[in-house]
Amino acid sequence: MTDPRSAGPVGLAVARGTLPGRVWMYANYHCNIECTYCLTESGPKVPRRELGPAAMLAVARQAAELGFTDLGVTGGEIFLVPGMPELLAEMAEHLPVVALTNATLFQRRLLDRIEVLAGRRVSLQISLDRPDADANDEMRAPDNFAKVVAAIPALVERGVKVRIATTVESIEDAELDRLCALHRGLGVPDTDHVIRPIISRGRAVGEGLGVTAAQNDLPAELTITADGAFWSPFGPTVRGGRLDTDLLITRTTLPLSVPAQALLRLVEGRPPGADSTLNIR
Ligand code: SF4
Repeated sequence: MTDPRSAGPVGLAVARGTLPGRVWMYANYHCNIECTYCLTESGPKVPRRELGPAAMLAVARQAAELGFTDLGVTGGEIFLVPGMPELLAEMAEHLPVVALTNATLFQRRLLDRIEVLAGRRVSLQISLDRPDADANDEMRAPDNFAKVVAAIPALVERGVKVRIATTVESIEDAELDRLCALHRGLGVPDTDHVIRPIISRGRAVGEGLGVTAAQNDLPAELTITADGAFWSPFGPTVRGGRLDTDLLITRTTLPLSVPAQALLRLVEGRPPGADSTLNIR
């Protein structure tokens, strides 16, 4: 982490809490499944919109230089991008990384390659919404539950840090208790379980799902995609096949100082902590 005393305006704003410390990247937009609430309408046939490894590494390096503290990688399903395990390991040389995945591609070959992440500053955040296969798979995909509960202990055994993300409109206490018992049994403690609401963007809109979130409800986390830089990882969503641009900050993404300073101008004057309780993590 950059010493705040030597940081520029972005690093100082991060150190003061005016600007969130995490920089997100959308690695891609395509996915092997089609969840009902997907923010990006991802699926096997959508345009890939890959950011590319060179740009991702440049964002990681420049984020560290500017004084950001963490990286997030999302998609699409990021492990459809060739070389992703090695890319995450390299990014983690610059800053800690949380990488979102549906965990349905972890067959033997990918599990062998994922070992490069063991002991590194990388957490794989895996979606698991319900403690029962039918209810979970109804929102996500056939066999999703079975694949996820097989993948998690396989990753934990290999020394890869795993977090669980539960995305739901609501969940009863008894069902949540069973879900927490399940993730503990799979080797993931309560401290690595996050529960988040469905946001009404992307495919969730057509399904009548989720809560409406305005710009000030969303974290001002700088988010880099192949199409530009956005306010929050909830910004570069897709609806009706078209990229939403209501939260677009700049088309320029590199050097990272350009969108970072544009975002800083937008958040300046807001008190620390004013940026949101909703989060994608
Ligand atoms: S929510 Fe994630 S796993 Fe589901 S379709 Fe979208 S990108 Fe794929």
